Amino acid sequence: MASQSSGASRFHSPAKELLCGHGERPILRTSSTKDNPGRRFWGCVQDGCDFFRWVDPEPGGAQQEVEIARTRRKITKLKTRLREVETKLWVVAALCIADGWLRVCLLLVEVAAATALFLGWAWMLG
Ligand SMILES: [Zn+2]
Repeated sequence: MASQSSGASRFHSPAKELLCGHGERPILRTSSTKDNPGRRFWGCVQDGCDFFRWVDPEPGGAQQEVEIARTRRKITKLKTRLREVETKLWVVAALCIADGWLRVCLLLVEVAAATALFLGWAWMLG
């Protein structure tokens, strides 16, 4: 039997939609196994029926992994950005030295470095 897809049906509790292999409605039970203590699941009222479904999502589920991945990407982006700024600073410094503008250049590099540092922290905190 295909489940109905009208707007209201999706808000029904799983107990009303789930049926085990021989057509019984499962009841809410609590796991007492070592691996999943206290975890709730739907199970059949009859002995010998192997119907089984967890009520709660997997522990440490998808949402947490998404957050971790997002943070990792952010850090990688930040590192790349800082490396770019660093490279540019060295290029500018090299050009300045070549042109004999060492004193002006050092000042520029100092200001740029301070700005880059500030931007880096702002990026990381934001
Ligand atoms: Zn059953």
